[in-house]
Amino acid sequence: MSKQIIVIGGGISGLSLLHYLRQKYSARTDVKILLLEKEASLGGTIRSVVKNGCLFEAGPNGFLDSKPRTLEFIAELGLVGELVRAGRDAQIRYICLNNVLHFFPMSPGGFFGFRPMRLREKLRVFAEPFVARGTDPEESVYAFGARRLGEKFSQLFLDPMVSGIYGGDARETVLRAAFSRIYDLEQKYGSLFKAMIKIKKEKKNGAETAGMPSGTLTSFRRGQAQFIETLGKRYSDNILFNREVTAVTRGGGRFVVEGGGRRHEADELFICTPSYQAARMLQGVSPGLADDLNRVQYAPMAVVGLVFPLSAFPKKPQGFGYLIPSSERKEVLGVLLESNIFPSRSPEGQILLRVMIGGARHPSILEKAQGELVRLAVDEVRLTLHAQGDPWEVFFASWPKGIPQYNRACVAAEAKIAEELRRWPGLYLVANYRKGVSLNDCIENAWQAVFGG
Ligand SMILES: Cc1cc2nc3c(=O)[nH]c(=O)nc-3n(C[C@H](O)[C@H](O)[C@H](O)COP(=O)(O)OP(=O)(O)OC[C@H]3O[C@@H](n4cnc5c(N)ncnc54)[C@H](O)[C@@H]3O)c2cc1C
Repeated sequence: MSKQIIVIGGGISGLSLLHYLRQKYSARTDVKILLLEKEASLGGTIRSVVKNGCLFEAGPNGFLDSKPRTLEFIAELGLVGELVRAGRDAQIRYICLNNVLHFFPMSPGGFFGFRPMRLREKLRVFAEPFVARGTDPEESVYAFGARRLGEKFSQLFLDPMVSGIYGGDARETVLRAAFSRIYDLEQKYGSLFKAMIKIKKEKKNGAETAGMPSGTLTSFRRGQAQFIETLGKRYSDNILFNREVTAVTRGGGRFVVEGGGRRHEADELFICTPSYQAARMLQGVSPGLADDLNRVQYAPMAVVGLVFPLSAFPKKPQGFGYLIPSSERKEVLGVLLESNIFPSRSPEGQILLRVMIGGARHPSILEKAQGELVRLAVDEVRLTLHAQGDPWEVFFASWPKGIPQYNRACVAAEAKIAEELRRWPGLYLVANYRKGVSLNDCIENAWQAVFGG
């Protein structure tokens, strides 16, 4: 009998998995692989909208080019020539305080010149090597930063970093789950500064970033959707659309997958959907596993794209964009200057901004009407970038369950999910609520699920 493998979900996790499964079984005609997608299109959170010469990313706008696995994957798809990288000007980032943009310091000199911190707050950062190693494996990112680098450092840098990556609350996000490399460096070397120095010496050439995300933001000429379209075309024979899986049961030693009025049997089942969808499907297989999956919480996000003519600004906005610490008590998390990052994203003479709103601290944000959220975004850039007049074009996307939160509830759920999965050989959960939310993480996790031990 042939071996049947089913992948549920055609986001980046499911599509990467399909790619690696096809690679693994390329010489096996007795292995059948099928991907079932709920919608009529692929991509999940990845959606690139093209209108009036603008390219608006409703979800992720890129990935960091620091992970060889992602770059190999792209090379395997023949897409290397289609990559676009954020330009040099986009290396400059800002922190917004009181509606004023401050350069995000990228060097020791820049750090000492950073005006929002007092001298003693800066000196506190350099006491880091003398701080004892942490003992709480569930310490929050904020508490970790406050302990090692001082409260102000957490408030101005780590807090907006967590909201920028996870839409998350740094006081709730568990360091070991969300930034495991930083946790490991502290445990191994006892200090991040010591770790940076030791690793730099060992590698001789490599720049160590103390576990912080590093690399250049990278996308495709036609946006993130180009990645998805390429995968969709290449594996069209393996993909079925409009197949919302509603239940998984066991029968005859196999998984029985029901959805879209059809039944499919699988020897191996990879579920690559958000956790609450996986929970619904798995109720019949393991109610306990379904309960644990339902414990994972998600942050809602609204993404507003605004296109202004260059003449709307007193001077051309510079850099990558800015993040806003939660101490500012704003619903806007930050603004990305998309047309500075990837210049072809708007017509000549037009500036495309992406305003990120909501996140874990604002769970009811999407109760506001679309018009209200757009006004919030416009008011924000009027205050900070001094934009005049109305935007020439507006884009809007909302994600009620946008990004999974790596908080204590998620950490506790993950421990039980991993344990429960050991009881179900052939069942795999591969999605962004486990082991990282970035596109790089999703690709790495798919590779590990197929080729890892
Ligand atoms: C606003 C926003 C901005 C982001 N920006 C970045 C960024 O710049 N860089 C970065 O690296 N990451 C970013 N992320 C995170 C990243 O986009 C996601 O973590 C990643 O795309 C998740 O991929 P996934 O395949 O795991 O899940 P999803 O994208 O959610 O895909 C799941 C798929 O499963 C399908 N599905 C669901 N239920 C069923 C069912 N019952 N039956 C069949 N199919 C089903 C869905 O339709 C979907 O296609 C961002 C996320 C958001 C929300």
